Amino acid sequence: MSRALRLWPLLTGTHRYEKLVSTRNRGHGLYIRAPILAYLIETPNGRILYDVGCNYAKIATPELRAKYFDPMRPLFDPPEMSDEQRIPRYLARLGLTHRDIDLVFLGHLHFDHAGGLCDLPGCEVHVQRDELAAAQSREDDGVLDDEIALSASWQVRQGEYQVATGVHAIATPGHTAGHMSMLIELPHGRPVILCGDAADLQENLSDEVAPGYCWQDNEALALASIRKLNKLARAENAELWPNHDFAFFNRQPPFPAWRD
Ligand SMILES: [Zn+2]
Repeated sequence: MSRALRLWPLLTGTHRYEKLVSTRNRGHGLYIRAPILAYLIETPNGRILYDVGCNYAKIATPELRAKYFDPMRPLFDPPEMSDEQRIPRYLARLGLTHRDIDLVFLGHLHFDHAGGLCDLPGCEVHVQRDELAAAQSREDDGVLDDEIALSASWQVRQGEYQVATGVHAIATPGHTAGHMSMLIELPHGRPVILCGDAADLQENLSDEVAPGYCWQDNEALALASIRKLNKLARAENAELWPNHDFAFFNRQPPFPAWRD
């Protein structure tokens, strides 16, 4: 057995923002709604989460919501998230708790990907060295300070590696300093590549458009990662799953259906 077993996309919240955020220099004045996703992956040797969504308290508590998300207007509206969209609620629907998660793999450290860690106390966390260093430098304003407060207990990795059976970490820097995508080999059908925010929308992949936010404004690095994903998908005959694309997400069967 050299493949993962099952993959569940989890809709942990939604976002409304100016399309420029996803497609560099495209979409001025056009606001789009986007899913905020995490993914649960079951493998023969354990369960992995790729990203964990937002910190629910920061959205549900008016003072925290104002503190953290008012400064992001008008580019971003505050995210929307219901209690049922918290990861432990999804796990409960599968008869699981956070103690059944063996590893949280953070593709990057922006608030809509790392904030939900507070709901998963004690889980092993993997992050890239460059990603953590950039976050600690406070030069990446998509990272909320308190969300990396426990990073001393995280496992810091560098570069690509096999995360678990059939699960491979793929380096796709550009959107952020140490952004990682994930290739998942499954028993049926084509492998799946979780692009993460290397490609928010299908358009980023088909038109080879960089995301609006690029670490240190390095558009070329973000574009190189998009091209790398397209090339990898051709080589592996894999599906590319963009990360903030509602049209794409809505074509997937709803939870608790899984892909295998
Ligand atoms: Zn994101």
